Amino acid sequence: MSGHEDIASRRRFLKLAAGTAAAAVMVSGLPRVARADDLPHVSEADPTAKALGYVEDASTSKDPKRKPGDTCVNCQFYTGAPSGYGPCQLFPGKSVSAKGWCISHTAKQA
Ligand code: SF4
Repeated sequence: MSGHEDIASRRRFLKLAAGTAAAAVMVSGLPRVARADDLPHVSEADPTAKALGYVEDASTSKDPKRKPGDTCVNCQFYTGAPSGYGPCQLFPGKSVSAKGWCISHTAKQA
């Protein structure tokens, strides 16, 4: 195979590969990324939430383990926005209130 044939062959391959990839995206659509807004909120009545003493508003917690200022938003398990609701690693597939709290609260490292 000459150098020209080799380059032409590579070009055909790259065009075919690009076309195939574009077709795959068109057929399957772009992957949908789950957003925190889409996650159902953890209910205080949820068995896991009850076991962990989760409350949607930390200021309402009567648990003596809670330190003033501790909320989900400053817990290392919280990965959401500073307000509203966001994911917590202890409640996979659900979101907790940024103002919430539970006994597993662990302060984020600076
Ligand atoms: S582990 Fe942290 S983020 Fe999750 S509910 Fe408890 S306090 Fe909130």
